Amino acid sequence: MARRIPNRRRRRPRGPKTIRKRVCPGCGQMKCDNTRVPYVDYKDLDTLGRFISERGKIRSRRVTGACAQYQRRVAIAIKNAREMALLPYTKSPR
Ligand SMILES: [Zn+2]
Repeated sequence: MARRIPNRRRRRPRGPKTIRKRVCPGCGQMKCDNTRVPYVDYKDLDTLGRFISERGKIRSRRVTGACAQYQRRVAIAIKNAREMALLPYTKSPR
């Protein structure tokens, strides 16, 4: 006698909402070319603030949607800002 195994695997329907086109916050383009990646200033805390979590950690590219080049510049700028004591390395837990 064959045992019946119920197929419980539920797949999320792929609607138009799931597929979202992402634009790099730095270049504002779908496809960033190396020539047009903007310079990120370590003193520009308004910009850098968008790329750090509330604990002071650098947000991942998956979260921010930045291209590799821009994410790299942001990360370097944040590290410079930390060294200049403009941003914290960590924040105390809640
Ligand atoms: Zn970009």
